[in-house]
Amino acid sequence: MERLAVTFDHTLGDPSMNPGDGPRLVVLSGPSGVGKDSVIEHIRAREPWVWLSVSVTTRPIRDYEVNGLHYHFVDREEFRRLVEAGEFLEWAEFAGNLYGTPRGPVEARLAAGQSALLKIDLQGARQVRQAMPGALLVFLAPPSWEELKRRLIGRGTDDEETIRQRLEHAQEELAAEPEFDVTIVNHTVEQAAAELVGLLSPQATHR
Ligand code: 5GP
Repeated sequence: MERLAVTFDHTLGDPSMNPGDGPRLVVLSGPSGVGKDSVIEHIRAREPWVWLSVSVTTRPIRDYEVNGLHYHFVDREEFRRLVEAGEFLEWAEFAGNLYGTPRGPVEARLAAGQSALLKIDLQGARQVRQAMPGALLVFLAPPSWEELKRRLIGRGTDDEETIRQRLEHAQEELAAEPEFDVTIVNHTVEQAAAELVGLLSPQATHR
């Protein structure tokens, strides 16, 4: 089988566009279906200075996704190669697929004095806490459990077994909220995105 060649973008962007004074690694996590993707997409569209890490995954690409923008899509063999090469800051298995954060681009970004935003699952957030104790861990919470269930089931992109796994995982993740530095309740995408962007600025004190 042909090996997928993955290269990571080390572009650092324009420092003058970052309103902060120094680097900050912000990790956004929370239960599946809480709306992390919508918040991230809102930020991607409206706050071009925010640098988002692009994860590597073995999950099949969804029709609205773009390879290299939403994720780097690879097969398991390539993912294993990247694990063995020490390329990941963290990685985890979620609902049968592998996900990992490429280390190099995040480190380069922080070394250049700029903030970075990761959107990862709970297992990944815990690994980042170990690897980078200065990271700010942000928990995106649903307004209620009923609302979360409605969002998970109404999403329409996954089969029943995947939804069951996601509900189970979501309950586990809700219980982890006290491990996080900050909770943002996702009442609206606009409000949650604004709160998250506020945290990317290093002057913000939340710890
Ligand atoms: P999805 O398949 O719906 O895009 O993502 C499933 C879960 O994997 C989400 O909770 C998402 O935040 C998480 N995820 C995405 N990228 C990474 C990553 O690089 N590392 C870890 N640990 N989780 C990730």
